[in-house]
Amino acid sequence: MTVADFSDAAALAEAVIDGQGAGQGRSALSRAITMIESTRADHRETARTLHSLLAPAAGQSIRLGISGAPGAGKSTLIEALGQWLLGAGHRVGVLAVDPTSSRTGGSVLGDKTRMPGLAANPDAYVRPSPTSGTLGGVARATAQSITILEAAGFDVVIVETVGVGQSETTVAAMVDTFALLTLSRTGDQLQGMKKGVLELADILAVNKSDGEHLAEAQFAARELTGAIRLVRGKDDWVPPVLNCSGLTGAGIETLWTTVGEHRRFLGERGLSQKRSGQRVELTWALVRDELELRLRQSPGIRRVEASITEAVAAGHLSPAAGADQLLQAFDLPVHHSDHA
Ligand code: GDP
Repeated sequence: MTVADFSDAAALAEAVIDGQGAGQGRSALSRAITMIESTRADHRETARTLHSLLAPAAGQSIRLGISGAPGAGKSTLIEALGQWLLGAGHRVGVLAVDPTSSRTGGSVLGDKTRMPGLAANPDAYVRPSPTSGTLGGVARATAQSITILEAAGFDVVIVETVGVGQSETTVAAMVDTFALLTLSRTGDQLQGMKKGVLELADILAVNKSDGEHLAEAQFAARELTGAIRLVRGKDDWVPPVLNCSGLTGAGIETLWTTVGEHRRFLGERGLSQKRSGQRVELTWALVRDELELRLRQSPGIRRVEASITEAVAAGHLSPAAGADQLLQAFDLPVHHSDHA
């Protein structure tokens, strides 16, 4: 089968499952994810069918989110953790959610060159962040891509995100365990760390705990351990604070053991409930994305958009009346010929 034959969802789904992410299956995998990321109306429909076809073959991986500020050492750590996991017999997929990529047109995260060892390994797959669409759209594509990777036989899926704005919340909502990388030398730890993010994290890791900064990093970890107890209730999972270094590999194995402990804490039932909730949320999110895209691509809206927004901006038309006129102009059905 050639890549050109992957025009329909069924053939593509079969190639993803059979290929197991290797050889020809690898191009099927990339093709499937590209389909999921596309904003073209016909691609989106194929992508939803593809997702449905692959869903029964998915669900078997350990889904780990890793977040941290730019320069926190995410890619170095994922490379080290990934290599360690490959050594332990796992197959590792890495996806990225980079909220800045849609603005700059280039993705900082998940770039293959940032994880050269993983990118070159046939048992690993590194996919940069989609570079078009809203953060929501990018995140949805990533959530669906997890399914694709699982169906292709990857049993560990790591979702990387840069620690800005909403992206952590979005990624935390698609993984089983969410780890936050922090540094000891970022000024006042707790001031610098948003309380909301502390609430999201299942694991905190003070990264770059090596060399001359080791003592300082260990001190920071102790300080964080105390602080986290204040944020999280006592019946909750209290996120362990680890010291690690992607550079030396110190603490990498402990990080993975802690992922396992968190899974045991959730239990089969807890994990299944968590994932059920995430699936329902994804369903609605996909509906919202689709509606928004249809709205933006609607010929009716496009015809009147400029004049209505101008009138609203100038104060000649109230926002409510403007909204009414836009809704009236909106033609609901998708126009397959109207690819944006
Ligand atoms: P990212 O932006 O979070 O992906 O960070 P990178 O992995 O690209 O690392 C940013 C910088 O920190 C690079 O210069 C790395 O060499 C350095 N770095 C990454 N991990 C470590 C670590 O564990 N220890 C030390 N000392 N430096 C590190």
